[in-house]
Amino acid sequence: MNCTDYQNRILDFIDGQSAADNFNDVFFHLPVCAECREFFQTAAKVNSAVSIQKESYPASLDIKIAANIPVNSKPLFAGVLTYRIPAYFAAALLLIMIFAGLTAMKELNYYRSSLERTSIQLDEQIHKTELLFHSLAPVEVTPVKQNYYY
Ligand SMILES: [Zn+2]
Repeated sequence: MNCTDYQNRILDFIDGQSAADNFNDVFFHLPVCAECREFFQTAAKVNSAVSIQKESYPASLDIKIAANIPVNSKPLFAGVLTYRIPAYFAAALLLIMIFAGLTAMKELNYYRSSLERTSIQLDEQIHKTELLFHSLAPVEVTPVKQNYYY
């Protein structure tokens, strides 16, 4: 590693983009290299100055910025439709729907076969009634005159 590499590591460390573990060899390099030592001190100073500026900007600016961000006007049910449900909940819901569908189909099949049985029984009854009707001896019906006024 040359000094440019060490200095890049110093910047990463100061920016918080690098863990202290990666900084070990820089610590061994700093006592033996005046240039990198100087660079480290300057970078640290710049960073703390920037940090102070970051901290000292007015909080009211945040409020102003937030107030000026246009609010998205969403359709009424957009939130509901785009709401992310956990995968296991969705899977459970799907299973319930499949089970309910199968149960409904089973019920429907039961009623259909029940209706078919009833229809066959009705046909049998009609047939029996017809047989009985035809087996009866013909009866001559003579009208009887009924006059209650005489
Ligand atoms: Zn160096």
